[in-house]
Amino acid sequence: MSRLIHHILGALVLALATTAPLSGQERDFTALARVDMSQSQITDAGAGLSVELTLSQGVPWRAFTLTDPPRAVFDFREVDWTGVDKRALLNADRATDLRFGVFRPGWSRLVLDLAGPLALDRTGMSIAEDSGRARLTARFLPATVADFAAVSGAPPDGPGWAMAQDGSKAPPKGRSGPLVVVIDAGHGGIDPGAEREGLVEKDLMLALAREMSETLIRAGGIEVVLTRNDDSFVSLERRVEIAHEVGAHVFLSLHADALAEGRARGAVVHTLSDTATDAASAKLAERHDRDDILSGIDLSGKADEVADVLLDLARLETRPRTDRLADALVAALRAAGAPLNSHAQRSAGFSVLKAADIPSVLIEVGFLSDKRDRANLNDPAFRARVAGAVRDALAVWLREDAALAPLVRQ
Ligand SMILES: [Zn+2]
Repeated sequence: MSRLIHHILGALVLALATTAPLSGQERDFTALARVDMSQSQITDAGAGLSVELTLSQGVPWRAFTLTDPPRAVFDFREVDWTGVDKRALLNADRATDLRFGVFRPGWSRLVLDLAGPLALDRTGMSIAEDSGRARLTARFLPATVADFAAVSGAPPDGPGWAMAQDGSKAPPKGRSGPLVVVIDAGHGGIDPGAEREGLVEKDLMLALAREMSETLIRAGGIEVVLTRNDDSFVSLERRVEIAHEVGAHVFLSLHADALAEGRARGAVVHTLSDTATDAASAKLAERHDRDDILSGIDLSGKADEVADVLLDLARLETRPRTDRLADALVAALRAAGAPLNSHAQRSAGFSVLKAADIPSVLIEVGFLSDKRDRANLNDPAFRARVAGAVRDALAVWLREDAALAPLVRQ
């Protein structure tokens, strides 16, 4: 017997179903739900697409679609993906690829690339009363591009979906308290960033973020908040949100990307601008914004016109402070003997730098595609020099910023 929780929600679907009431108390609720590959498949069905996933237990979940490119997204309370083979799971022409993994701590995501606009027609999860096993089904039907766009979009995070936060937004702190620095280790979880010769950007940047955090805390007068302190996926929007929540004075995003073309090497400090200073910066920004495609969040289309004006006003005041921060960082890295790129200071439209009122920079510490940089990035002594340079740069910047603040606010 199976209890059927069936949502027929037309096209705009936000199916957030908790587990059905269970009779026994003997089940192990601490174990993660696992996917039963023998009873899971994604296939073409009629003119549409059918998704069937069997889980070892029911979990809260939701499903929705996204545009540009068309994707279907399934979110679950954490699922153990061990043994899931996408080639075995995906047996359809109307879905071209899929990825899955941890989306944020405690939550998992499966993203299905759709061959065209296929709108969610119905979806539901049934839970067997005897075994507790759960069966998630979803059916997608062809739609016009316009109809698909109208019903697509990430639903807002309701209760239970947001990360555990007390929700109280700290007001921006004055300069009397400690300097609050948010260090953002690039990538994480399902998104590894660049990978070369066994080195992975997300791991190296997490190591650097932790080391830098210790260096800054030891310097005194600085509070550090990490956007992630483990190998979990954090959306770009969430990274910016964290900076706001903790009342950050400075936001530093750490990366070590790889470039296929050219011979990029040496550190680059990026600031935000509407137009990229060069093609390489534009390409990097574009690639990092693909992270948003994965997480289902599109920052670019979010702000309405009024918000745009407010953001511009905030940036007007923030931009010179950000530029001075970038200057100080480049100078300190040079003084510390860290190799710099021939264009060490650049600007491009990175989503992660879009906190209008917080000076934010993205430091490309080096390039994993370059042999020398790779050796440096993997060397704790080199990373310690970079952390020391950031500490020195912040000290210089703070002094300048304090001296100039009365002028800026006149
Ligand atoms: Zn990166």
